[in-house]
Amino acid sequence: MVEKKYHCPRCGNKDIVDYTESFDCPSCKLEFEKKDCDELEESQILAVEEKLGVFDAIGLEPKKKTNSLD
Ligand SMILES: [Zn+2]
Repeated sequence: MVEKKYHCPRCGNKDIVDYTESFDCPSCKLEFEKKDCDELEESQILAVEEKLGVFDAIGLEPKKKTNSLD
């Protein structure tokens, strides 16, 4: 079984803490979602913490979605 190796999109650290659907970078102290790493360019990947902050603060979405909800 080949497991895809993930690394921190921010600093390139391969010494990550692996969770089922996400991983932590001990250097950046940020958590990234694996699906983001699969789907997005490295420069587009936001840490979980950053996404929460972005959503809360400005309501920006990293991925463009058509959303008609008020
Ligand atoms: Zn890092």
